[in-house]
Amino acid sequence: MSPPRKISRRKFVQSASLLTAGLATPAWFPKFHGVSNVDQPLREFGYGDVSLASELHERQLEQTRSVLMGLHEDSLLKPFRQMGGQPAPGDELGGWYQYDPNYDWHTFDAGFAPAATFGQWVSALARSYAITRDRKIREKVLSLNRLYAETISGDFYVKNRFPAYCYDKLVCGLIDSHQLAGDPDAFRILEHTTDTALPHLPGKAVEHGTSWRPGTDESWTWDESYTIPENLFLAYQRGAGARYRALGSQYLNDEYFNPLAEGQCAFAGRHAYSHVNALCSAMQAYLTLGNVKYLRAAQNGFDFLAAQSFATGGWGPDETLRAPNSNDVYASLTNTHSSFETPCGSYAHFKLTRYLLRVTGDSRYGDSMERVMYNTVLGAKPLLPDGKTFYYSDYNFEGRKVYSNHAWPCCSGTLPQVVADYGINTYFRDARGIYVNLYIPSTLRWTEGNASLSLSQKGSYPLDSLVQFEVTASRPVEFGVNFRIPSWAEGASISVNGKRASEPVIAGRFATLRRRWKRGDHVEVDLKLAQRLEAIDARHPNTVALLCGPLVLFAITDTPQAVTRQQLLSANKVGEQKWEVETATAPLSMLPFTAISDEQYSTYLVVS
Ligand SMILES: [Zn+2]
Repeated sequence: MSPPRKISRRKFVQSASLLTAGLATPAWFPKFHGVSNVDQPLREFGYGDVSLASELHERQLEQTRSVLMGLHEDSLLKPFRQMGGQPAPGDELGGWYQYDPNYDWHTFDAGFAPAATFGQWVSALARSYAITRDRKIREKVLSLNRLYAETISGDFYVKNRFPAYCYDKLVCGLIDSHQLAGDPDAFRILEHTTDTALPHLPGKAVEHGTSWRPGTDESWTWDESYTIPENLFLAYQRGAGARYRALGSQYLNDEYFNPLAEGQCAFAGRHAYSHVNALCSAMQAYLTLGNVKYLRAAQNGFDFLAAQSFATGGWGPDETLRAPNSNDVYASLTNTHSSFETPCGSYAHFKLTRYLLRVTGDSRYGDSMERVMYNTVLGAKPLLPDGKTFYYSDYNFEGRKVYSNHAWPCCSGTLPQVVADYGINTYFRDARGIYVNLYIPSTLRWTEGNASLSLSQKGSYPLDSLVQFEVTASRPVEFGVNFRIPSWAEGASISVNGKRASEPVIAGRFATLRRRWKRGDHVEVDLKLAQRLEAIDARHPNTVALLCGPLVLFAITDTPQAVTRQQLLSANKVGEQKWEVETATAPLSMLPFTAISDEQYSTYLVVS
């Protein structure tokens, strides 16, 4: 155990000013044709700049926060203390979170990944504090970091199947604590953590399934060292020091990124979530180092992923990425119920599409994020205080929404982070104005010059096509508002103060309204919710999902029913969130994922 490095007051002040520098656009940021519609990456807003007013989104945020706030500090620290040989009072959390020195992966469930979610929970609480400014949440973040700092020990990594995974999550928790909860000790604790972890990490990205610790069984080859650059680059950007930039570079997985950058699909057989999450490392490598290879790898990776995604936007049946044009995704509709690792997959997907959207200004990344949100994670069963967690979405012909058999699995770490990020995924900005990426009832507050502004959106989208916006401005000010027009929204229109806007509104682009805005200006965006069918793949054109706008409509049925394309396309909306399809026999009910509880459903139907 190496002692914490003292950080001088001067060094801390320098770090704090670097924080601002890190958020600014790097001077070298290139503009090149065909890749980017923007001069500079779009900027994110702060967590506190957006307040959501959507019951579904807010409920997820409140539920996850209340579970995390209810976890006892001694229980959270217990695996760290036990593995470091310290007294470890308090109850076990159980499940994957607990430490069991006799753990055997063949037969045990509890003890699989001790303390692996700790850093993610600290991160989620820091994000929650930045949204709510609730003092109790900040106190919990600072207290957990203080107590964790007393447990830092090389033994934690020696005894751990997932040293890089745990280190990555701890880095994330600490840099979020620094940036979002103002923990003055976070970077000192980060240094101590890094000094302690590094001797026990592989030294470079090691692929899933590759043995690098002699004398250990295969369960010790499932770590994810190829995902750690993202948070290391973010640590550097936030002022933690040049060391983190160098470490980020050291762990870049070129074995995976090089072929992707050259347009070769390096997916087949790879673990799904961690390799999509690794594309976020490629994006942060691009944003930090300026090496276009990593942007190409992430862009091509996204395209390969989109080509093997379900209509919901989910991917990776049985947690595995597939060869392009394989039969595997179609076959998964009958041979598995583990179709999409939902909270973890959504977390990776939201970050990847956020970074790609910011860098390219291409609205299709926002379309993809929206699809994953409404059809997967927003309909996840709630995280429960005993560790019950929604893990897989089920796209089997006989599908059900169920809890995982595991308590406190990986997905209990990502869900609280995903739901804290809904706000920052909704709006972006550049020097010329605002981007509306997601249509979620909410209010954005910001300043433009010396004017205080707000933009509020209302409506029942995606159950209704109309979204209403209202601007408030402390004084009239000129700026652009860019509305994402989804690629399916042919015929979408925008009106300003009751008059149809003359600016072009094109499906699959952002539509820009640039004017001198004043208090009370209102905008109505009509997104024309097109009903359409999407086949599972080109070889199975009759196995289709029905979509309405961004929503997949799931057939609520225990028995396969004969149905035609035309019948599906003529689905009638018969309730606030219910559609009905006339068939030759009985009417078929169709629900969005967020409206399904325990009934059996089918994502895809075979049409005649
Ligand atoms: Zn997971």
